[in-house]
Amino acid sequence: MAGAGGRVVFFPVPYQGHFNPVMRLARTLHTRGLDITVFHTEFRAPDPADYPADYRFVSVPVEVSPELMASEDVARIVMAMNASSEAPFRDRLAALLAAEREETGGGVQCVITDTVWYSAMAVARDLGVPVLSIMTASAASFRVHMAYPTLINKGYLPVTEENKDDPVQELPPYLAKDLERHEMGKLEEFAEMLRLMLAGARQSSGLIIHTFAAIEAASLDQICEDMSIPVFAVAPLNKLAPPAKATLYGEVQADRQCLGWLDAREPGSMLYVSFGSFAVVEPHEFVELAWGLALSKRPFLWVVRPNLIRGFESCELPDGVQEQVRDRGMFISWAPQEEVLAHPAVGAFFTHSGWNSTMEAISEGVPMICHPLHGDQFGNARYVCDVWKVGVELEGNQLERGKIKDALEKIMDSEEGREIRERMNGLKIAAEKGIKEGGTSLTDLIKLVDLIKSF
Ligand code: UDP
Repeated sequence: MAGAGGRVVFFPVPYQGHFNPVMRLARTLHTRGLDITVFHTEFRAPDPADYPADYRFVSVPVEVSPELMASEDVARIVMAMNASSEAPFRDRLAALLAAEREETGGGVQCVITDTVWYSAMAVARDLGVPVLSIMTASAASFRVHMAYPTLINKGYLPVTEENKDDPVQELPPYLAKDLERHEMGKLEEFAEMLRLMLAGARQSSGLIIHTFAAIEAASLDQICEDMSIPVFAVAPLNKLAPPAKATLYGEVQADRQCLGWLDAREPGSMLYVSFGSFAVVEPHEFVELAWGLALSKRPFLWVVRPNLIRGFESCELPDGVQEQVRDRGMFISWAPQEEVLAHPAVGAFFTHSGWNSTMEAISEGVPMICHPLHGDQFGNARYVCDVWKVGVELEGNQLERGKIKDALEKIMDSEEGREIRERMNGLKIAAEKGIKEGGTSLTDLIKLVDLIKSF
């Protein structure tokens, strides 16, 4: 039953990897009696038909030039989105507060935003609304954000040929090359963005992290010690709420035919290949990947998004590959990823190690071949391969056909692969336990709901 606990405003960031967990948290709270209003950017707007009928949607104009949006300059994009959304967010939140006072005599219980929206957090606080922040990446990544100035001062950043293999004493098991890398110049801007995000999170009334204690207990303990606000570890959110049908990317929508195609495959025989919602590969790497899959002789489902190859809007298979993979390869532009990972035919996931993809793979017990490309993905891959030991990292920085074939054989056919599969099954069970009665994620979720209702 929705509606007994008051209204919560969500403001998700318009990137699929940020948007999905935030909207799932909204749905989880909705099923626990809270009314939901979603403030969303005017561009990449969600489809209200995908959500419960009593959700309200408020569009916030956010202007960032298409050139900047198309760039990989994360800090400048984030800062521009924050600057541009501040005033319209303020107007709309103030209007909602006035309407709620009139309608119900009450206000809004709280605003929940991604740590990325630091300006929205400040506006909400300013208007007297409690704020909760959500970190959509791992607890270990949050620790990297917290330690960023120290990491620069101690010379781990920027990452260079000389320091890349240095163990980061302050953040084991990371090596310098696992940290979010940025070149000098961009590094300072990135550090400033993190400073603003952290200041927002510290001033919020609670921090929600999309992780669970069984995989990140040490990082969570450290964060709880360092932050003087309540911290809630709730995951996998993808197991607590269903996925939205529509993507944020207009004409690129999930191809559900692939599920029927998977039905015809042997259990555990398939490789699923996807590099998430915005990572790009170099043209020669695309060729290597196509040949790696062709040489492996395994059936595969590969998400070849428009713009997957740097500098190209669409992708064509290299000569010779098509003939080799005709009967065993399927190419789609967007997958219903969670259903694909849950399909018995899928035996391994070749991933860029985005945090949602990692969490979704753990939820379904699918071992990973990791090829991190940027941001927090390097650190995620380190945990997957070296801490939880539920995947293998592709050797070298570049995709190479021989290494892809070797990694695939290792994970699908070797004794090491069998052990990896067993450990992955253990993680899946731990994740399931966490969201059942008495489990750590469910306990934190209940505490979170109590806190929201107490505001
Ligand atoms: N996703 C999907 N279908 C695709 C590619 C991605 O549904 O073909 C979803 C995926 O399930 C995940 C999100 O998009 O929830 C991507 O988030 P992630 O953190 O893994 O990577 P990012 O895109 O942020 O790099």
